[in-house]
Amino acid sequence: MTFDLAHPTQQQLRDGVICGLIAESIMIPILLTLAFVEHQSVRWGYLVAATACIFVSVVTLALFVALNKGRATLRAQATVWFVVVCLAMAGLAGIQLAAARHPGLYTPAMLVGVIFVCIVGDRRMQVAVGAWALALIALVDWVDGLRGGDFAVSLVIYGSTIAVITLICARTVGSLTGQVNLSQALDALNETFADLGFDGPGTGPDSFAEIFRQGLPQVAGVLPAERVAVFARNSSLERFVLVAVWPEGASDPADLAGLPELTRVLVTHEADVSAEHVVVPVGYSSAGELVMVVDRHGSEARTDARTVEAADLVAAAFLRATSRANFVHGLHTESRTDPLTGLANRRSLFERIEIEMAHALRADTPLSVAMIDLDHFKDYNDQYGHVAGDTVLRSIAAVMVSNIRGQDMVARYGGEEFCLVMPDTDLLGGHHLLDKLRGGGRDATSDFGVTLSAGLTSWDGREDPQSFIERADQALYRAKETGRNRVVSIEAFTEF
Ligand code: GH3
Ligand code: MG
Ligand code: MG
Repeated sequence: MTFDLAHPTQQQLRDGVICGLIAESIMIPILLTLAFVEHQSVRWGYLVAATACIFVSVVTLALFVALNKGRATLRAQATVWFVVVCLAMAGLAGIQLAAARHPGLYTPAMLVGVIFVCIVGDRRMQVAVGAWALALIALVDWVDGLRGGDFAVSLVIYGSTIAVITLICARTVGSLTGQVNLSQALDALNETFADLGFDGPGTGPDSFAEIFRQGLPQVAGVLPAERVAVFARNSSLERFVLVAVWPEGASDPADLAGLPELTRVLVTHEADVSAEHVVVPVGYSSAGELVMVVDRHGSEARTDARTVEAADLVAAAFLRATSRANFVHGLHTESRTDPLTGLANRRSLFERIEIEMAHALRADTPLSVAMIDLDHFKDYNDQYGHVAGDTVLRSIAAVMVSNIRGQDMVARYGGEEFCLVMPDTDLLGGHHLLDKLRGGGRDATSDFGVTLSAGLTSWDGREDPQSFIERADQALYRAKETGRNRVVSIEAFTEF
């Protein structure tokens, strides 16, 4: 059997322990003194058993607190708590049995245990501790000689007292601590997202993976759950695709993807709370609109206002995180793209060349680059103005993008210079592609009357990206020297 302690914090735990110890240290001496002062017969067996119970309970408690130092929540060890409380109550019952007078004197002390569990435990734990208290009271009554009607009346009175106390506590103190726990769990969630540090450089699309990897386990602290899954609505496939799931390796959440609530929530943009599921929208990613499903099967599912509020707050926390990731990812894209033409910029060009170099080595394939420069473009600007010049740059960029192959990359190197990266391509193949571009460039810019020159080279398998590009630049220089509007290639030379 497992119990949910609704995440008491260290502070709450310490307060509980101190209250318990103070209550025991006041009550036990008074009761023992009463027993001895009144010279009543002491049943030593029960007294030894009671002392042992209380001793074990206090030692376990102290060990528990010491071992958990520094931890934020103590959910996993709830069973230890349960045992400690039950042992302490058994100890009190034992004292009652040891001092065979004043029947019922110790019973109210046991109710303190019930109240305590009402504050920190969940419903299952409250019921278990309530039943344990009643069983102990029945034992004490029986050993004290209560029989028949008196025994039954005593059980009914104590049983109903325990039930009433549990109900009142669960509704007042329990819900108060529930609220405190809820806000603590939400604070922890928001702190996790703040700590993800999306503002740093190099933050890419993986931010989403990180949001869900760290955020989903915390959802279960706010809304008790068996599974939590996030799906993206893929507009081209017209279905929900799994993005993340908690716990890792949870049973296939495909059953959740088919829930009608998912579509509904993306229309209303409001949390959908039922006893089985909580479904909330959590923003957008490149994979599509995101929706989170909390599978509540097997947990104490409520659909009250507090649950709806909790669902809204979870949704808000994730929305903030995903929109921030989108924003940073947007900046990230900007930092890698040339704003005028939309082509890759110099930074992503060099990154790409390094990747292609590694591929060329691995696959033993040729790699070529070309530097492309528009001819007499200064004259064009002088004649038609810079705005017209920009238009030419944009349309030539578009022509190049539509003419290259999927594996190629064209980047704006600067001004009216472009760089073309051609993996799996030797000089011959490069010439072929560049001639196609020059033809395309003429078509697209025939109105503009602009031509281009290109310098082409292949990688020697050793040089770094910078010198590779410089060699292409030398070829371009020769193309300009020899009359422009042409492609000139330089063989990679190898020094031994
Ligand atoms: P060539 O390359 O044939 O030797 O002559 P060029 O006139 O093209 O000479 P160069 O490449 O050295 O000059 C670059 C010119 O390109 C200078 C500038 O007027 C123009 N240019 C560079 N960047 C831009 C830009 O972003 N927009 C516009 N409109 N013009 C640009
Ligand atoms: Mg030029
Ligand atoms: Mg130039």
